[in-house]
Amino acid sequence: MLTTVVGSYPSPPQEPASLGSKISALLGSFDPYKQAVEFAVQEQIAAGIDIISTGQVRGDMIEIFSRDITGMAWEEGTSKIKGKILPLNYSIGAEDLQIALKTAHKISDNFHASAGVIANGKINEDVKGVKGIITGPTTLVLSSRLEGFYTMDDRDKAIIDLAYALNKEAKYLEGAGAAIIQFDEPFLSTGMADIPTALKAIKIACDGLKIPVAMHVCGDVTQIFGKLMKFPVDIVDCEFAGIKRNLEVLENSDLKKIIGFGCVDTKTENVETPEEIHELLRKGAELVGVENMMIDPDCGMRMLPEKVAYQKLKNMTEALKWLS
Ligand SMILES: [Zn+2]
Repeated sequence: MLTTVVGSYPSPPQEPASLGSKISALLGSFDPYKQAVEFAVQEQIAAGIDIISTGQVRGDMIEIFSRDITGMAWEEGTSKIKGKILPLNYSIGAEDLQIALKTAHKISDNFHASAGVIANGKINEDVKGVKGIITGPTTLVLSSRLEGFYTMDDRDKAIIDLAYALNKEAKYLEGAGAAIIQFDEPFLSTGMADIPTALKAIKIACDGLKIPVAMHVCGDVTQIFGKLMKFPVDIVDCEFAGIKRNLEVLENSDLKKIIGFGCVDTKTENVETPEEIHELLRKGAELVGVENMMIDPDCGMRMLPEKVAYQKLKNMTEALKWLS
């Protein structure tokens, strides 16, 4: 079974320490987040994760996109849509993905660009790679204030325009060596999203990608799980540790996807024991079959103390060893 993370990892920006980095700081070219990406990568690999992330260290999942995408702005801690949303002629995340891939490759030869994670609908358990993560079009628009160009009546139009912009970013990330593209759509479980528009947008955002696509939807998915199974993605990733009733839907659904099986609660600092995690994984395996599961934490780990985040990942990979 492959292990992965949802995305964010607690890894703060670094002060320049070496002489070289102090000189770059003086020249204005020091990047305090480069070492943060490297640290997040080292930690994830040390904990035994197969498909790692960059740690999403540059800001929260809304901010990192809204401050760059044409038509959007990040002002005073709020995401705003002020003009027509258009694709960018540069990538937001490709450089960090390359830093992550390079760092991973130094530690282990097994990390490859565009690793074939899924072949003929089956998970290839021997691969290791880096996941490219993009906040989904519906979640980004519903988290933003519409100021002027789009009104509440054409909110769906903003979601579709954003889907085209994010499709370009997904292709940049694929080109940079991502093994999987993941769209984060937590708003789909809130009841606020229009599911048909969200599906249409994800279809646009995935168009032309050759690598597998995952969609992460945290929260209670019991009301929408059947609909999530219709999205044009290979993996649907949900939380099963923090929200145990999500297990019920696995029992009664016609499973057409690989399930990203969140098995440690990221909302609590309490570290689950490998025994506890194993028990949840065993339940999941009974419901969907181990061959249909990728395992990860419930959600991003940014808000957890560094040691807690690491120990949760470590216990998760430990629990997995007992499953076979
Ligand atoms: Zn989440």
